Amino acid sequence: MHKATIVQNILNLSLETAEEYNAQKITEINVEIGKLNQITEDQLNFIFNILSKGTIAENANLYINETDASIKCYNCDFNGQIDKIDKEMIPMVLCPECGSHRVNVLDGNDIILGNITIEQ
Ligand SMILES: [Zn+2]
Repeated sequence: MHKATIVQNILNLSLETAEEYNAQKITEINVEIGKLNQITEDQLNFIFNILSKGTIAENANLYINETDASIKCYNCDFNGQIDKIDKEMIPMVLCPECGSHRVNVLDGNDIILGNITIEQ
């Protein structure tokens, strides 16, 4: 997914939710992002600031919680979390045990909208 599309989706969902509660303003948005997404907190904030201009989410604080990534390795059968991820290397995910790239990514690509804080 394109980075701007990801942020637009987060923004749209937040706005829809806020509307349901007749919010005047969104002050805080929490997002959970899997470690394997090629988007950093800085990038996310930068794009969000542009896209949210003129909406009730303008100037909202974006909090990002990176969630763990886990893989299953076809080479050595390693099955578990990977801690160190080089963002430059993505989407090349290597097995932490044997270094193989023949891995199945089980977790780490998700982007989930968490809580939002609103003012009514
Ligand atoms: Zn392995």
